[in-house]
Amino acid sequence: MDHSATTAVDPEVTEAMLPYFSERFGNPSSLYTIGRQSRRAIEEARQKVADLIGAKKEEIIFTGSGTESDNLAIKGTVYKNRKKGDHIITSSIEHHAVLNTCKYLETQGFRVTYLPVNKDGLVNPDDVENAITPQTILISIMHANNEIGTIQPIEEIGKLAKEKDIPFHTDAVQTGGKLPINVDAIGVDLLSISAHKMYGPKGVGVLYMRKGVRIEPLIHGGGHERGIRSSTENVPGIVGFGKAAELAKKRLPEEAGVVKLRDSLIRGVLEIDDSYLNGHPTKRLPNNANFRFSYIEGESMVLNLDMRGVAASTGSACSSTSLEPSHVLLAIGLRPEEAHGSLRLTLGLDNTQEDVDYVVSILPEIVNKLRMMSPLAR
Ligand code: PLP
Repeated sequence: MDHSATTAVDPEVTEAMLPYFSERFGNPSSLYTIGRQSRRAIEEARQKVADLIGAKKEEIIFTGSGTESDNLAIKGTVYKNRKKGDHIITSSIEHHAVLNTCKYLETQGFRVTYLPVNKDGLVNPDDVENAITPQTILISIMHANNEIGTIQPIEEIGKLAKEKDIPFHTDAVQTGGKLPINVDAIGVDLLSISAHKMYGPKGVGVLYMRKGVRIEPLIHGGGHERGIRSSTENVPGIVGFGKAAELAKKRLPEEAGVVKLRDSLIRGVLEIDDSYLNGHPTKRLPNNANFRFSYIEGESMVLNLDMRGVAASTGSACSSTSLEPSHVLLAIGLRPEEAHGSLRLTLGLDNTQEDVDYVVSILPEIVNKLRMMSPLAR
């Protein structure tokens, strides 16, 4: 129940990748047969990823991860447009791949506006509009949040960005393969996705770059990926991403169906006294449930669930090594002790109603046990 941290590689994806580790090991830049085979496989994968998000094949750049795609989109855009201005607009609940990139850019002389969100985690498009200045050279607002699952009004922000002719990036790592995405309909210029969140391999990402958008490369070398991202391509990884994208497109209705399991989980868990749902009640990812329980710590719940065979997380997997309360939960107005009492359960295609029933049956006992030990409990 931690599919937003990562997913298992689909067996069909593994099967598609395997030949590119062994008999089809050619360097895609080589002119002979196995090199050309690798090149063809990459171009087929590019088309499949483009089809998933309604893009053109030439607009897809393969990278080493979602984090790299975010870095490339943000730094690449602002470095390219430095002469036009120095101002970036983002939100206070972005993934660290965006947030820490923006913080780094502040040390390089750029100015960043971190927009607040409401109690459900929504960015207000009026706030985006009010934050725009003649110096604004990038807007980066995530499609859906990785912790609380809130889906942002991305089309409205896209319209604003277009009117003002400001490049617009969205981190769609959590929505890729889960929600239908059409880059024209949502009006983005740059969009990041990552294979391992959609039953593909780890260590391969994509940056969608609308035709005509110019960015500065961050890695210089032999000019691969149209000079935007040099280095010999990760052929098996890219082939795996292509297959995962093809499967994801077919399985979008199944992903939407996960809502039923999610809602059953939410109903069951909220039966527990002093438990609350974090994030928007309806504008949320079909697989995301994020709760808070008064008087106890998320970490203890995660460890107790693990002992009962359930994988869960507090807030975000990415911040689990830190004792700081989640920046997302603080941004929606929770007190630090409330933020510490949060539990994220994210479902996937391999979960069943039995899984949900099992969690709903064991969680009250775990919560009660922890509350009995808690000095905060009444
Ligand atoms: N952006 C979001 C919203 C994410 O959830 C993640 C991963 O947790 C990333 C970016 C980073 O992606 P990757 O793990 O491929 O670097």
